[in-house]
Order: sequence, then structure tokens, then C-alpha cells
Amino acid sequence: MINRHYLELKDDYLFAEIDRRVQAFQEAHPERKLIRLGIGDVTRPLCPCVVDALRDAAQEMGEQVRGYGPYQGYAFLREAVAAYYASRGTHVEAGDVFVSDGAKSDLGNILDIFDTDLRVLIPDPVYPVYVDTNRMAGRPVSFLPAADTGFLPLPEAGTRADIVYLCSPNNPTGAVYSLPQLTQWVEWARACGAVILFDAAYEAFVCEEGMPRSIFEVPGAEECAIEFCSFSKTAGFTGLRCGYTVIPSALERDGQKLGRLWLRRQSTKYNGTSYVVQRAAAAVLSEEGRRQTREAVDYYRENARVLSETLETLGIAYTGGKNSPYVWLRCPGGMTSWEYFDFLLERAGVVGTPGAGFGQSGEGCFRLTAFGRHEDTHEASRRLLELGR
Ligand code: PLP
Repeated sequence: MINRHYLELKDDYLFAEIDRRVQAFQEAHPERKLIRLGIGDVTRPLCPCVVDALRDAAQEMGEQVRGYGPYQGYAFLREAVAAYYASRGTHVEAGDVFVSDGAKSDLGNILDIFDTDLRVLIPDPVYPVYVDTNRMAGRPVSFLPAADTGFLPLPEAGTRADIVYLCSPNNPTGAVYSLPQLTQWVEWARACGAVILFDAAYEAFVCEEGMPRSIFEVPGAEECAIEFCSFSKTAGFTGLRCGYTVIPSALERDGQKLGRLWLRRQSTKYNGTSYVVQRAAAAVLSEEGRRQTREAVDYYRENARVLSETLETLGIAYTGGKNSPYVWLRCPGGMTSWEYFDFLLERAGVVGTPGAGFGQSGEGCFRLTAFGRHEDTHEASRRLLELGR
């Protein structure tokens, strides 16, 4: 009766276990002020032009009917997305943009258009959604251990897969692929016919000149890649919900355009992102919206800089923190990631995320996020420095 593959999923225990340990600690030490650098949610409010757009759109809907919208998203938003890519020198057609309620839904739902017995390759450690959505569909997955590659695994002579997931800037490791590295993946995919599912949810954090923010910066990617983007971290939409997926019309498998299959899927199972939210998302991409959201991204980026500098001072190895809101560190003294979690909680009152929760190769590592408030991040830094290695 039931989909038995659900029973094969690991319990979603990571954040539950963190909460359990934090709560037990806080009950035993009610006087200790904890700093939470574990969450991946934003702490800055929506920027003013988004709030104005929401208000105006709500007003408009009170004056005229805005019913079901186009399945693919309103043209005004798809065109704004294409213009956003163009402003970064990347060509994307508005007709290849599919608006949704966020990257997580699309990353899971995209599997509907693929065969169940495909070979799926997933870097490890990883954003757990890629693994669980494949397991729910009963699709076996292979892992690509990333720890020995600076958390930027590349295809090798024997790499075989039909679908590969890449996430850059990466959650949880903060590592970012360079253009030559992404080019290697695109060349590999074109040679073997694989499709790259490229998660660019954190593209707005890339600030270094020459570092790619989109797989479509690589020539030929339009024939082998799908890109998933989100307004969640770029513009604080985690509670508003909007994202978009780019499926180039040149991307075909078995003689079928994948974008057409996706539209068929969406028009059957999804009735679209609300008009109000799409207006708000378009406001993010306006000139004023980009300026205002840049301020929030810079705010988090500054936190990331403080955390990176702290680890450098302590001589603790890490990745991320530069073009990413995540800082991924090697637990000092050979501690396991849960040992380091308890150590930091008890000795410094700082809460992070144990790397083991992101896959086998995450063991011995630990994730801190830059999404906290400045004051808390500075206080966490002070406590870490006081604690030493
Ligand atoms: N992709 C990655 C790598 C993420 O870390 C997240 C959220 O944390 C998402 C996608 C989901 O984004 P959204 O809020 O648009 O569903």
C-alpha cells in the first residue's frame, strides 16, 4: 500500500538531535546565553522595495481579479530573471525560466521527468534533499566523496552517471567551483550524455571577480544542465517562497525537450506562485531591489568574514566564508563532529551543525552559518578565540 522507500530513509534526526541537546543544555544552565550559528535561515527583514511591491500587488488584487497565473510564471518575472542573468553577462531566455515556490520543491520535483533507473551521482557531504528525494523514488544513488578534493570533486576517467548534482556555492561546505572546474563537469556531461542539476541557491554570495555564479557561464552547458535558483537567501524570501529553474530549450534527451516535459509536469501538479509574490520577486531584480538586497547579502558576508578570520587566527582549517554564507571547518584535535558540537556548546555556548549530518564525508567537520546577527557573530568569535583550539 505505502511507498516502502520512505521506510528506507534515514530519520530526519539532525536538527531534532541538535534541538534536543541544546534544550537539555539550556535547562541545565539557564543562565548561559547561547549563540545559534547552526540555522540556515535568514535574520534580516525583507527590503523596503519588496514590501512596497507586496502592498501594491495586494491593493491591485483588491481592485481587479488576478486568478490563476501562467503555469511557467508571469512574463514580467521571467523577463526580469533573464535581464538579471544578462547583467552578469550570461545569456538565458525568458522562455526557459520556470517560476516556482522555491528551489527545494523544484530540486525534488524535477525527478518526475526522469526515469527511475537512472544512475545518480551525488557529492558527499551534501544538502540532504538530493539524496532523500531520489531514495523516495526508489532510485539508488552513488556518492562522490569530496573531502580529499577541497570539497570540490571533479569527474574522473571512470566517473559514470546519468544525473549529477552540483551545488556551488556549496551547502554545507561553502566551497565554490571555478570556471575551469565547472567546464570539466560540462565537458564530461556532454561527452557521456549526463544531465547536471546545478543548485545555485547561493549565487548572490559570489563576490570574487571571475568566479562563476551560474553553470550557464560555461559554453555548452545549455545542452546538459538545469539550474535551480532561489530568492530565499538572496532576498530573505524563506517565508515568502519564490524561486526559479532554468531549463534551456537546447536541453534534450531521447529526442524530447526537458523544458517541455517540466512544463507538462508543473501544469499538472502545480498551480503557480502567487501573483503578489511574483511581483515581490520582480522588485528584487529591479535596480533598486538589487541595491537593497545587496545590503543584506553584504551584512551576512561580513559575518562570514568575521568567522573566517577567527578560524584563521586559531589555525583551524576551513573552506567557504568568502563567496558563501557557510564556513565549514575541520574539527580541531581530531574530534568527531558531534564531539565538537558538544564541546562548543558546553565550553563556548555556541551552536553549530555537525558535518556528519550532511553525509559520511562530513564526519570530522562542522558548519557555521553567517546568517546570524552581527552582535551574535562577533560574540561567537570572541568566545571561540577565548576557547582557543
Ligand atoms: N538549495 C540549497 C543548497 C539550500 O541550502 C536550500 C535551503 O537551505 C535550498 C536549495 C532551498 O531553497 P528554497 O528556500 O528556495 O526552497
